[in-house]
Amino acid sequence: MQAPVPQPSNTPAPVEAPALIRAGEFTVGGFSLGGVETAVVVPELRLAIDVGRGRQALVRCDHLALTHTHMDHAGGVPYLLALRQLYGMAAPTLYVPAQAAEAFKAMLAAWEKVQRYPLGGPVIATEPGERYPIGRDTWLVPFRTYHPVPSNGYQVVRAKKRLRAEHIGRPGPELADMKRRGLVIEEIVEHAVLAVTGDTLVEVVEKQPHILEADTLVLECTFLDGRKQLADARAGGHVHLDELMPFASAFRNRQLVLSHFSQLYRADEVPGLLARFAENARPTVLPFPMDPTF
Ligand SMILES: [Zn+2]
Repeated sequence: MQAPVPQPSNTPAPVEAPALIRAGEFTVGGFSLGGVETAVVVPELRLAIDVGRGRQALVRCDHLALTHTHMDHAGGVPYLLALRQLYGMAAPTLYVPAQAAEAFKAMLAAWEKVQRYPLGGPVIATEPGERYPIGRDTWLVPFRTYHPVPSNGYQVVRAKKRLRAEHIGRPGPELADMKRRGLVIEEIVEHAVLAVTGDTLVEVVEKQPHILEADTLVLECTFLDGRKQLADARAGGHVHLDELMPFASAFRNRQLVLSHFSQLYRADEVPGLLARFAENARPTVLPFPMDPTF
């Protein structure tokens, strides 16, 4: 057996690529390569936030939520609608930032003309702060992001019952008795299990601080080192890791998943490039997969 190679003391240990990303009781899959293809999938909710080129595995998603309508995030929608028809499945519900919704519908109508059959699919024009039910006690809640085209991120918010604080520690039979007598011993609390920004400027961290409380935050961070200058990253409406450094201790998430890495970076060098940030960040920092896992 070979001895492990010692790490030089001034080199932080690289971030490990995740086998599985969790968000509360859900799993988060997908892949992202900046400018090429991005899809974030929660299989248990049949939810895709962005659809990339519309790979076949996404056909199971009943909810397709777009952060914005750039091709690498939204291009696969007409194809997925056609696939669902092929398989005899009902059309999925589409969620599109309100300011882009009319143009998006016109795009779908043009596809219907060239296909010569209806593609269907209700298009919901999303507004930040509104709530869209996607399952039992589960909502999609858009929040504002900052990109050169109309854009919003999404939180997945869940409602759960919990024992009211004043009753914590009471024995079970006593609580059961209180319930029988019609006393309200529980309260409903809402909690974001997942937040996904989509493409954005780093301003999202300061202007939408509630996303720093979600169990898991998938945050765009396209550029990771000096191969891209900060000003150029900003001009494209993207986050540079240098800009994220001052916020390292602000995140309250359990997992912070950085995503949408540029093709400038090889997948195997990304964990090492993230290490300087991960060392100072409170949450576990993970890279979102760059290769399609399905
Ligand atoms: Zn993109």
